[in-house]
Amino acid sequence: MIKRQTTINRIFRISGIGLHSGREVNLEFLPRREFGIAFVMGGKIIPARYDMVGDTRLSTQISAEGAAVSTIEHLMAAFYFSGITNCLIYIDGPEVPILDGSAWEFYQGMWKAGVYEFPETGVYLKVLRPVEVNHNDAWVRVKPLNMLDITMTIDFRPPVGKQKKRVTDVENAFAIINSRTFVLQEEIEAIRKVGLAKGGSLDNAVVVGSEEIMNPHGLRYKKELVNHKILDLIGDLYTSGYRILGKVEANKTGHYLNNLLLKEIFSDPLNYSIY
Ligand SMILES: [Zn+2]
Repeated sequence: MIKRQTTINRIFRISGIGLHSGREVNLEFLPRREFGIAFVMGGKIIPARYDMVGDTRLSTQISAEGAAVSTIEHLMAAFYFSGITNCLIYIDGPEVPILDGSAWEFYQGMWKAGVYEFPETGVYLKVLRPVEVNHNDAWVRVKPLNMLDITMTIDFRPPVGKQKKRVTDVENAFAIINSRTFVLQEEIEAIRKVGLAKGGSLDNAVVVGSEEIMNPHGLRYKKELVNHKILDLIGDLYTSGYRILGKVEANKTGHYLNNLLLKEIFSDPLNYSIY
């Protein structure tokens, strides 16, 4: 469990294509003294923070100074799992690469770079009062607890069905890190029609067919899909800028509600304390 602000110990790079743009993108990770994680695009700084989040339809996008970066959630989850609080990411395209559809390669890059610890604290956000947001039958709520504990429920057509998973020791939940993004086969055409998922393939997403998983090697875990929703939630929650301590329960949540939960938490200083 980290206690203080940290950054990466040395520079590293990762390249790959964007899921929605299909374009090759290069990332360069630099140590940062200042608190927080931020992207740098063409000289403009875009903090990876909940109040910079705009579009949340298929991924979490942040924007500032007229520049925007999308699909930041898996990278943010990797920062959470690595315990990194401060970092600059130079990016030369509009979307973080999808890689294998999980946070695994980002996490590996950070692990190899190593962690440098600063003396400053202030990395935890402790939830002091219950906060809940909902939209139709989807909801996400958080209650006070001295650690991060997540319960996620998803409900899709067969063969996925209803899946529930609870993770009590989130910081060490390694099966979450390499669980891949997924899509229902019938949704692919609609997503492509609006010009998205151009870079999507069986190499970077689990495709759920009408009766079975379409990927030749199937799933990495029996609960890979609900695991991935937890990964998305962890990444989105880390745009708070802090490691949240609380009991989080979610039903069919997505990027929009995850962001709304943070806005609700921060709307009242009595909801939380930072230490
Ligand atoms: Zn995802």
